[in-house]
Amino acid sequence: MTLLTFRFAPSPNGELHLGHAYSALLNRQMAAQAGGRLLLRIEDIDITRCTPEFEAGIFRDLEWLGLHWERPVRRQSEHFAEYQAALDRLIAEELVYPAFMSRGEIRAFIAETGKRGRDWPHDPDGVPLYPSLDKALPARERKRRIAENMPFAWRLDIETAMARVSAGLSWAEFTDETMSATRAIEAQPQDWGDVIVARRDIPTSYHLAVVLDDALQGVSHVVRGQDLYSATGVQRLLQELLGLPQPRYFHHRLILGPDGRKLSKSFKDTGLAALRQAGMSPRDIRRLIGF
Ligand code: GLU
Repeated sequence: MTLLTFRFAPSPNGELHLGHAYSALLNRQMAAQAGGRLLLRIEDIDITRCTPEFEAGIFRDLEWLGLHWERPVRRQSEHFAEYQAALDRLIAEELVYPAFMSRGEIRAFIAETGKRGRDWPHDPDGVPLYPSLDKALPARERKRRIAENMPFAWRLDIETAMARVSAGLSWAEFTDETMSATRAIEAQPQDWGDVIVARRDIPTSYHLAVVLDDALQGVSHVVRGQDLYSATGVQRLLQELLGLPQPRYFHHRLILGPDGRKLSKSFKDTGLAALRQAGMSPRDIRRLIGF
């Protein structure tokens, strides 16, 4: 029997906070209950915001919490060639197209259609969907713009992509952390419109790197925050398009700040380093978040 594999996959673009501690500890607990492995993956494709200092902070905070993980740790920025290969496949299969509109141009276009901003469809994060004008650009024009170094992103042609996969795209979601039952969730990647799968200078996006890494690392169980629940639809679609196995998912509750809002990396007083400096022990942290 293959070993069940869990992973905790933070991005080193800020300090870990109580929400990360919860996710990491829950992954450890579920892996231990299942007799499985726990991997740590550093998701640092955003080379402008991720820093070695934040990465060192992740190792330090997790070790302090008493976590252990397998080494070597996969660092996404070291695997751009693998992401490029998958992107090349999506390009060859005409599932992605270069999209040239800037945020300002998108706003102007939406205004021009006469629709008020709120009538235009938005993705689950509240961002207006990309107007798929560039999809119709003739190949020659695309080449010309790329040759002229115009900024662009590779976007998934969601309509073509949905037509390529079998009807009824879904995923298996655990109903709770005991993993005793799953229910089928209908994936709705179309809610995100033509999502970005890679950038001009970085051959991947969060979604593409996650599905490739989960498959390459044999991840069988993706346990992460509720905030990524609807992203799972896009990831399931990419798995289908690339012929990758599908893990099972559990989206756990989020740890909220005193104001009832989701914690962010700039929310200093729930940062693990700050709490440690204030004299809290790993045990205090565990108790604070219900372990
Ligand atoms: N790197 C992502 C984050 O820090 C998490 C990715 C995932 O768990 O799929 O939010």
